[in-house]
Amino acid sequence: MSWFKRIESGLKRSIKREMPDGLWRKCDGCGEIVYERVIQRNYWTCIKCGHHFMISGRDYINMLVDDGTFEEMDACLASGDPLSFKDSKRYTDRLKIAIKKTGLTEAIVTGKGQIGGHPSVVGALDFKFLGGSMASVVGEKVARATRKALDEKCFLVLVSSSGGARMQEGILSLMQMAKTSAWLARFAESGGLYVSILTHPTTGGVTASFAMLGDIIIGEPGALIGFAGPRVIEQTINQELPPGFQRSEFLLDHGMLDMVVPRPEIKKTLVEIFDFFSEEKRQVQEVRKPAVLKTPPSIEVRANRHPGEDKQLPTK
Ligand SMILES: [Zn+2]
Repeated sequence: MSWFKRIESGLKRSIKREMPDGLWRKCDGCGEIVYERVIQRNYWTCIKCGHHFMISGRDYINMLVDDGTFEEMDACLASGDPLSFKDSKRYTDRLKIAIKKTGLTEAIVTGKGQIGGHPSVVGALDFKFLGGSMASVVGEKVARATRKALDEKCFLVLVSSSGGARMQEGILSLMQMAKTSAWLARFAESGGLYVSILTHPTTGGVTASFAMLGDIIIGEPGALIGFAGPRVIEQTINQELPPGFQRSEFLLDHGMLDMVVPRPEIKKTLVEIFDFFSEEKRQVQEVRKPAVLKTPPSIEVRANRHPGEDKQLPTK
């Protein structure tokens, strides 16, 4: 605009420039504005305070698997509306919005790939798809992923980020807890190794089923992990909860997690775990001995006792 025109129309307020979407992000941990690409390069964590940003299931899988090895499974499975559910919106409409927003057909991405050269089946929930909630299709995809790992004798990794079971499918969502647990039990019986990675937040029916059934459970730093939320618990027991309650570090201290690993180191940790167990498997095959599961001494003692012996009081 020329000077003369500006005089004619009077002084104008400077126009507020909008920041282009997706270039910068405000960190929820330290409040700093951080360059998006820097965050991505640092595995979606803040370089200043280490805050872990929520990422999509697909991004998580890409971070874990070796380049170009991932083959998605059951990508065409999509939810129906078995209960014709409607609250403030129809369930079908909620699904359409979620599909458009995320480009996914359901709240989980599953597939086969290699992690540090180890064939693995990987699945990751996506919180942006209806809060990463578990309904019929999520349960079915977890079950199929487990079956695949079982059939092909490879490692299983599931990454959770979920608000729990999806209420719009009612009891059908709750049934998935039993279904996924049953498949994981079968996988465990076959000697398979399942690593569960818990990201912020992992709650409800997902925590109460496959997320907590890992042979090794890894939590991301600061992740909220629990069944009911802290506010509900506080109101129910009418007591103030201890600081850091339901966060990864708290759960690690109380024996609910095996380790807390920052996201940039998760792949390295997975590879170390898989290397260790592959080596152990190889050694077992070499000596041609079946792997013997050692039971803790306390359990052995109990098992050797005669029925009813526990009830006897010691005599002096
Ligand atoms: Zn930060």
